[in-house]
Amino acid sequence: MEPAQRRRFSIIASHLRPLALSSSILSPSHCTSSSDSDNNCSNLEADCIFCKIIRGDAPALKLYEDDECICFLDNNPVSPGHCLIIPRCHFPSLVSTPPSVVAAMCSKVPYISKAVMKATGSDSFNLLVNNGVDAGQVIFHTHIHIIPRRAQDCLWASESLKRQPLKLDQEALHLVNNIRQQLSFVDGLEDGKDHGPTLIGSH
Ligand code: 5GP
Ligand code: ZN
Repeated sequence: MEPAQRRRFSIIASHLRPLALSSSILSPSHCTSSSDSDNNCSNLEADCIFCKIIRGDAPALKLYEDDECICFLDNNPVSPGHCLIIPRCHFPSLVSTPPSVVAAMCSKVPYISKAVMKATGSDSFNLLVNNGVDAGQVIFHTHIHIIPRRAQDCLWASESLKRQPLKLDQEALHLVNNIRQQLSFVDGLEDGKDHGPTLIGSH
């Protein structure tokens, strides 16, 4: 079977039966069903704790796995069910992760979050990515947090974040133009597309 076909088949199969209940949940020596040699990634880092989890050299309470990602409980959770989706390959942050890998990680969010919410009796969750030190990233193997939320859980509320109403002034227009220009030159490739008027809804 072609690798791409094998991957698709494995994802479909994992959705039908994500983890056999008999399979190891806490698995210090073989967190994944595949051995290091058949993990389809060759860039695992010796000192990265998440790479160690992938290799089976560190323990984790695993919730889900497929050929591209694994998901396990955070060992210092913000709320019960707080879990992390990580790719099997080592990429230090979200911006350094290929879009196809980001897509694979994100595509698991509805499936895993529904299960986590049902299991924890919540009907809400926050999806969180800390990208970079200033955003609070401490583990430099890209990951997505799923954090189940409940009424009055005393975590953060969107309204509690300090905000300033956006002013439609020169500074805002300059910022928008600057970002649009950066988008056109991301990775040195000018996309050459017309992205439409800066201020939409104006006449
Ligand atoms: P960051 O701030 O980098 O987005 O979050 C890293 C997350 O990884 C934290 O929530 C932290 O609790 C979790 N974490 C760090 N080390 C381990 C570990 O060895 N095992 C597990 N399961 N989670 C970890
Ligand atoms: Zn890693």
